Formats: sequence, C-alpha cells, structure tokens
Amino acid sequence: MTTLVLAVVPLLALTTPDFLVSELKQDTIRRVGSQDTETTSSTSNAPNQLRTIVLDAGHGGKDPGTHGRYAKEKTINLNLILQLGRKIKEKHPNVRVIYTRSSDHFVDLYERGAIANRNRADLFISIHCNASPSSSRVYGTETYTLGLHRTQSNLDVARRENAVILQEKNYQQTYKGFDPNSPLATIMLANYQHAFIESSINFAEKLERSFRYNASRKSNGVKQAGFIVLWKTTMPSVLIESGYLTNPDEEDYLRSEEGQDEMTDAIYKAFLRYKEEIEAGG
Ligand SMILES: [Zn+2]
Repeated sequence: MTTLVLAVVPLLALTTPDFLVSELKQDTIRRVGSQDTETTSSTSNAPNQLRTIVLDAGHGGKDPGTHGRYAKEKTINLNLILQLGRKIKEKHPNVRVIYTRSSDHFVDLYERGAIANRNRADLFISIHCNASPSSSRVYGTETYTLGLHRTQSNLDVARRENAVILQEKNYQQTYKGFDPNSPLATIMLANYQHAFIESSINFAEKLERSFRYNASRKSNGVKQAGFIVLWKTTMPSVLIESGYLTNPDEEDYLRSEEGQDEMTDAIYKAFLRYKEEIEAGG
C-alpha cells in the first residue's frame, strides 16, 4: 500500500490542473515578495515578528458540523475561537486578529484560506470538534496539519470535515471535480503547503503538549490528512479537533465555561511559545 501511494503521488503532481499550480505559485510569490518588502522597509528590529493571525471557527450557518447530545459543533467552535481571539488581543495589542467568521454564518472552505492569504497572515488556526460514529468511548484532542493520512481514521476525519463543500453553491467550479469521497483526491491535496509543513508541525506539537499539560486532556497527537481548509493557505496552518462530541464527558467539558476557558488557555500558551520561538529567530 505504501509503495502504491508513493507511486501515485508524483503522478498526481504531474496531473494537477494547471490553474491550481499557477494559483499556488502566485500565492507563494506574493507572500515571499511581501515578506521581503516588509523586512527591508521595516523600522522594527524584529523581522520575524508574528503580526497577523487568522482564527477560523469551523462550520457555521446552514452547516452545523457534528453534534453531541446537546451541543452543535459550530457553536462550540465559535465560542472557542472568539475566546482565543480575545485572549490574544488582550495580551498582544500589536497582533492583528482576524476571524473568518465571528457569528453564526456559513463561509465556504475555499474562502477561509483565501481570507488568511489576502491578509498575509503569519499563522492560521482552524478549530473543530471530532466525532466517532462507532464508539462513544473515544475521546481526546488531535491536531492536524496538511499531509498524507497514515490511517483510515485520519482519512475519515478529513472526509467528514471536507464534505461540507457539497453545501457550497459553486463547489464543482471552485474545487474542479474534487470528490471528498475519493482517497486519491486527498492525496493530491497533500502536494500543497509543503513550504510550511515544518512550522505547522512544530506549532501542532506545541498545541498537543499544551492540551496534555495545561488542560489535562488526553492528547491523541499530531496527525496529517487532506483538509481542504488548509489546502492553499500560504502560512503555517493547523486544524485542531478539540475533542469528541460523541463522548458525553468530553461534550460536557467542551460545552462548559471552565472547559472552554481551559482549552483556549492551552491554545494561547502554545501560541505564545511558538510566537516567542519564531521571533527569537528559531
Ligand atoms: Zn468540523
């Protein structure tokens, strides 16, 4: 299976539609150009400063995401994102915090990444809640970066989160025949984001460590899969599965004020460590 996958990737890279390749190149060039300009014209002594962060609450509006006995995923995602944004703004007034949505409305997956690119963000965080259709006993946090899934369950998570494109108006145009049910499609997605993979994984590891030590959560670790929302972002990007709404205890935790405060504190602490690290030139 591994050999087959490795053989398929270069083939897909060659057959990636031209419009995708040229768009990706433009995005990358624009970003590299902007960084150069900022570095040379900046009066600040910190060229690696983390200036802009885009916070993405998964789902919204007509798309509720998954659900528990009481809670809808879209509501928990939004609460966590807004609270995280408040904490960052409060402690770092110089960091620009941008939300892909700050209320209960629907935003296309493609547009979420585009918002981050247009604002030349330095970091992109998407927050979601997980679900296990087979067992209510499964629980814990997972943080994803874009890449090849190594297990069926990682692929299942990406497929579930990607399936929302079917509710978008022009998804056939936007994603040019991308089929969330095709395993090959998610392999194709993994060709993108490669320039930021190392930083994305670094930040994802800090997040999972922080969930374990600062929020006493069970960490299921850092994983990779083909999430459309991370696909074309031209900056380090992660997708946090903050817990399983199909697990009653975890649902109660994520619905509670205390749980949301603890989770956003844990994300904030990982953000702070990452910010300090890159600003120190690491
Ligand atoms: Zn979700």
